[in-house]
Amino acid sequence: MSPDGLPFTATPPDTGCAAPPPAVERGQRAVFCGLTGIVWLHRKIQDAFFLVVGSRTCAHLIQSAAGVMIFAEPRFATAIIEERDLAGLADANEELDRVVDRLLARRPDIKLLFLVGSCPSEVIKLDLSRAAQRLSEQFSPDVRVLNYSGSGIETTFTEGEDACLSALVPELPETEAANLMVVGALADVVEDQFTRLFEQLGIGPVAFLPARRADALPPVGPETKFLLAQPFLNETARLLEARGAQRLAAPFPLGAEGTDAWLKAAADAWGVAPSHFDAVTAAPRARAVQSTAARREKLADKSLFFFPDSQLELPIARFLTRELGMRPIEIGAPYLHRRHLAEETAMLREALGEDLPILEGPDVDAQLDRCRAAKPDLTVCGLGLANPLEAEGLSTKWAIELVFTPIQGYEQAGDLAELFARPLDRRTRLRV
Ligand code: SF4
Repeated sequence: MSPDGLPFTATPPDTGCAAPPPAVERGQRAVFCGLTGIVWLHRKIQDAFFLVVGSRTCAHLIQSAAGVMIFAEPRFATAIIEERDLAGLADANEELDRVVDRLLARRPDIKLLFLVGSCPSEVIKLDLSRAAQRLSEQFSPDVRVLNYSGSGIETTFTEGEDACLSALVPELPETEAANLMVVGALADVVEDQFTRLFEQLGIGPVAFLPARRADALPPVGPETKFLLAQPFLNETARLLEARGAQRLAAPFPLGAEGTDAWLKAAADAWGVAPSHFDAVTAAPRARAVQSTAARREKLADKSLFFFPDSQLELPIARFLTRELGMRPIEIGAPYLHRRHLAEETAMLREALGEDLPILEGPDVDAQLDRCRAAKPDLTVCGLGLANPLEAEGLSTKWAIELVFTPIQGYEQAGDLAELFARPLDRRTRLRV
């Protein structure tokens, strides 16, 4: 128990590398592609537009995942590139220029245009970075045009956000001043809560990547420290480090415990006195503990099985294990960035012992066999697997909800626990 009676302390366990690495497979996966990130990114960056350069399949995916914007002008679309040979590429570039021309003439509110590549071969043949450069020169300074790939050839759908933020890093203004950057798209409500907490702690200036507006990009330099808000931003972190910024090692801000340790990493870097940290965080932390405790009765001792999907598997498993008493049978993750997940792994190890059930890149067929044999109380998986598993009598949670729902921070800890309690409730009601 921590000194204030809470079941943990804000200091994550030692992340020494003596422990064995997680097991690795490289099997077939069943996940969405990186275009999916547009669904939450277009809501976050309010003057950006995402123009997918892709096929009809891409257009269908993005339309059905993001839905139709009834009350506002859309901020994403697909320029459909039909099959063509190499000789037709000049025409394709001209067509793309025409589409962008028309779009920007009609929509002066767009300040940042992303050309988003996809995986069809006719799109891969197009050099979108050259197109972005050409169009940026044409529309500068009113509109900045950048490009990234949302291709399904990448590991999983959250890498779309990593690719988008990576495209923004070279655009960040240079600074020599000390500042804190929070990296990873967060719901506005969560961002506002963190801003208030950092202010009360005396940490700052603080800026967020992505910013809500294209002209509010956070500055970066050798005195910049950054906290990752999401565990899937490997390339973005690498590029920020290449610009001199230093990552503050921390678990992710999920649950009371994760949020505590995440804020503490920044507080320590800014020399905030422990007594002041405790004074600022005591009330929201107590609310988080109370709201998760209310769900603990339903979730404690229930078994849990993760298929690889969002890359949030380890932080979520840590929260459900340590704060809600669930028992993970298998934690499958599409990809594990060992350095960024060192604190999470150490905390899971502290709770579960050396023999961690973590598996990187598991093969979906073999995993399905193991899941059916284990009959877990709750299975966290992608949409494609959820319905068949439900039909077989298993309770499931769609992993994709974890990126669409505000789940980070003290005030969301209870809602995060509720996301996992609800499928169990539903099945109990169905049985009655
Ligand atoms: S990018 Fe590839 S995987 Fe994604 S919708 Fe388009 S064709 Fe399908």
